[in-house]
Amino acid sequence: MDAMPEREGPLYPLITLSRHRMETDGEGVTTLIAGAGCPLRCGYCINRKLLEKDAERVTPRELYDRLKVDDLYFRATGGGVTFGGGESLLHAGFIRAFRGICGDAWRIWAETSLAVPEELVRTAAECVDHFIVDIKTLDREIYRAYTGGDMELALNNLLLLKELAGPERILVRIPLIPAYNTRADQEHARALLAEKGFSQFDLFDYVVR
Ligand code: SF4
Repeated sequence: MDAMPEREGPLYPLITLSRHRMETDGEGVTTLIAGAGCPLRCGYCINRKLLEKDAERVTPRELYDRLKVDDLYFRATGGGVTFGGGESLLHAGFIRAFRGICGDAWRIWAETSLAVPEELVRTAAECVDHFIVDIKTLDREIYRAYTGGDMELALNNLLLLKELAGPERILVRIPLIPAYNTRADQEHARALLAEKGFSQFDLFDYVVR
């Protein structure tokens, strides 16, 4: 009996794909790729159970083969793929390998909290076109209470990413988090980040059901 072919490249814990999203992440048609795993524990996370379940593991080539049915849409509209989550940058090595297969014709977005080790940010800066950073808050205590994580890590990574990728490739999302922060906190965070050279912001309200 022939041996099974070896599966090459890092494996990605795929939860689901969502195709034909129109102008959700900038221009063009995109496919959202949701992967398992996140270092944070946000109070209002709606995906927690999903993120921790066993997910199918796919290689970069296997994922590409599933997505290429939309190649023409991506090329014609300037779209591509968005790695979401969970925490997409946990899989920065996978994204780099995926980029090696899809080339530059597809744009790649990553939705991230940046609550990851610095080397993953460095890897992602090489292979992701646009970052959508959910920084949550710049108040250390509120961040800890809401996410269980360390705001300094996320902020330091955000500043590093700006140096590596440039502010024009970064959209910073600053939510109003009911029972945790205020509009004044939101505006304060925006003002601090604008002082540091960021220019693209999305201030919005978490809707708690
Ligand atoms: S960063 Fe996102 S996926 Fe992770 S726990 Fe928070 S809301 Fe959930």
